[in-house]
Amino acid sequence: MMKELLLVVTIGGWLGGNPGERSVVGDTEITKWQYGKKGAVSITYDDGSSDQFSRALPIMRRLKLPATFFVITGPIAGSNYQAKFIGRPVKEIISESANIPTNADNFFERASAARYLGYQGTIAYYDRADARFESGKKEMAYTIMDSLYSVVRSGSLEPGETLSNEVMQEKGLIWDSLKQYAAEGYEPASHTVTHAHLAVLDTANMLYELQKSKEDILEHLGAEYTFSAEVPYGIEDPRVMKYGLPVYLTLRNSMPEPFMKEINRGYRDQPGAFADKEYVQWQRGPITRTTMEQMYSWVDTTLAHTNIWLVLVFHGVDDIGWEPLTHERLDTYFQFIKQRDDRLWIATFGDVAKYLRERMDAKVQSALKGKEIVINLSHSLDPTVYKLPLTLKTYVPAGWKNVRVMQGDKIQQVASEKDEKGTFLLYQARPNAEEVKLSQGNAEYLKSKK
Ligand SMILES: [Zn+2]
Repeated sequence: MMKELLLVVTIGGWLGGNPGERSVVGDTEITKWQYGKKGAVSITYDDGSSDQFSRALPIMRRLKLPATFFVITGPIAGSNYQAKFIGRPVKEIISESANIPTNADNFFERASAARYLGYQGTIAYYDRADARFESGKKEMAYTIMDSLYSVVRSGSLEPGETLSNEVMQEKGLIWDSLKQYAAEGYEPASHTVTHAHLAVLDTANMLYELQKSKEDILEHLGAEYTFSAEVPYGIEDPRVMKYGLPVYLTLRNSMPEPFMKEINRGYRDQPGAFADKEYVQWQRGPITRTTMEQMYSWVDTTLAHTNIWLVLVFHGVDDIGWEPLTHERLDTYFQFIKQRDDRLWIATFGDVAKYLRERMDAKVQSALKGKEIVINLSHSLDPTVYKLPLTLKTYVPAGWKNVRVMQGDKIQQVASEKDEKGTFLLYQARPNAEEVKLSQGNAEYLKSKK
């Protein structure tokens, strides 16, 4: 304690700060949100339906808003991996079902094969069995599976296949378009290969949905877009999360960070009730009947606190997709959000997740060397993935109206600001890179910028 105090007195001496401000010069923190904002908003879209790109994307481009698109990779033209059953021949599974009723041992295999039996209409049974299984009614799920295999054996179904609505609605999407959106700063991300109910798949088929979607994204878009994924239907099934998280570094379904409270789409908790948490991830999914007032209130609530990450989940747009919102409503809503971007950090899902993890893991140290404040910023996460710049807030002597910020060969001139503790500076710094050097800037520089 004593040592620190002596050092600080020295700083005040040579830098000429006001006595009341001495105690904070050099103090550096990583701001909770990038650019020192009050909260964050991520706009996300599920299912990759065509109107998301033809109607909603032009609005976001006009307003310069980023977004994340969780796309189903199987139906995208040029994908290497399509809908497929991994396992023994389905004929064997069908004939076995005549003698062995569905039970805990064979349910996952039968559910995994259900869409690939070669008949139309099987998907309806699969959807219903999943709904029962996920709500804990396992015996009912087994009964539905028995009735599916029974009608298949009876030969009363038409040969063919039925695709899910989500797969049908994504038709026409191509990798080159996604590549273009990525180049503009949008985040394409995985929504599995076929929009399957992963909770009722056996391990091999579940991993196919997760891993092969990732492989296609890796090949067509690059590693950066294999960071985020959303397992369809927003499920939080522990078995799926266990297999899903090693494949993707972040699932929107569930982020088990100890520093974060997660309020998913269907939950009624109010984010303001978790003021003690470092972060609250608050997912809201506007549907057709959601009022604009409700939608505005989510943004207002985010701004009324300092720890909320509002994650908006959109599906249908105009005529295509689940619970669609008109593009006029989206336009109005996105303008409302944009008008508040002086206080809100609006960023992709992946960028916010990276920022929070980097910040919570990072160490920042500052020291005085000559007439410079030297800052070291580092974290222990994988530097090839976690390389998003962090925003630092450093207190500087009161006389520093503008400050020269140098990291490596990158030099910025940043105007200082004042708060109750003193004169400070907000600036971007790359973690695990060169040390950052702050020094009194050239006053003429700022004048010339005006
Ligand atoms: Zn979906």
